[in-house]
Amino acid sequence: MDSEVVEEWAGRIASDSGFAAVEHTVELTGVCAGCQPATE
Ligand SMILES: [Zn+2]
Repeated sequence: MDSEVVEEWAGRIASDSGFAAVEHTVELTGVCAGCQPATE
């Protein structure tokens, strides 16, 4: 993931909601392409 996108998103949410000094944690879970079962 492009971290800049997350920073922009967090900043936008913060300014929209009137919050300041917002901290954020992004957690991703999932299965990479190599571990996914074949869909065919
Ligand atoms: Zn994998």
